Amino acid sequence: MKLLRVGAAGAEKPAALDAQGRIRDLSALVPDLTPDWLAPERLRALAAIDLEQLPLVDAGVRIGVPVAGIRQFIAIGLNYRKHAEESGLPLPAEPIVFTKAITSLSGANDDIVLPKGSEQTDWEIELAIVIGSTARSVAPADALGHVAGYCLANDVSERHWQIHRNGQWGKGKSFDSFGPVGPWLATTAAVPDPQVLDMELRVNGEVKQASNTSDMIFPVADIVSYLSQFMTLLPGDVIVTGTPAGVGLGMKPQQFLKKGDVVELRIDQLGTQTQRVV
Ligand code: ZN
Repeated sequence: MKLLRVGAAGAEKPAALDAQGRIRDLSALVPDLTPDWLAPERLRALAAIDLEQLPLVDAGVRIGVPVAGIRQFIAIGLNYRKHAEESGLPLPAEPIVFTKAITSLSGANDDIVLPKGSEQTDWEIELAIVIGSTARSVAPADALGHVAGYCLANDVSERHWQIHRNGQWGKGKSFDSFGPVGPWLATTAAVPDPQVLDMELRVNGEVKQASNTSDMIFPVADIVSYLSQFMTLLPGDVIVTGTPAGVGLGMKPQQFLKKGDVVELRIDQLGTQTQRVV
């Protein structure tokens, strides 16, 4: 099942994609797609709804973040072999973990707002994990049972703040609009294997990143298990899982986003995003 939230920022309504890819209004049945709706039994109940009976939503509607009330926004760094190589860094022995501010979350097609004076704002296409049930010290073999589903995400990154402002990558990753997630949450029933997904990012029509989640160093199950050893993962938590090769920082010469650029992203089963840089 593919779940989304549509409408103006702060006033989104829950919705689902039907078999034809049309948006159906779920608001008569679900108040909002809050973390408690991501529990396995709730997702099974949602999957049983006959979507054809629900009202259609105008295809041109704004699409918000697919889950309301997200409490933790966690990120994994350097998790693709070829990206670690382009960064000139050794493959990490354990996952690199940082956080993005909750306030950086934005809709799939919302504008990316360049921070004041920024000359090094960069793109990072990523697979996002959405947690469905509380995970504490789970084994890799049990980890996917705690996942509700997956989203497309752009881990927008201001490299000067990330690298040159004295520690903690989160500084460069937390500006408002730096966390587009969506358009929809595809449940694990819709995406049973998260390690076989093609992904592509373009800037102004030119392909910059083209990879597959099979290039991940630490796969989804290992990431969820690893994080749960030292923190409790809560329903609705979003974990972005690292970006493949092809970021602007790794280019020679380096390339960064400027006003007027258009960034387009897609991952198999997870839809597309289009962001204008302003
Ligand atoms: Zn990233």
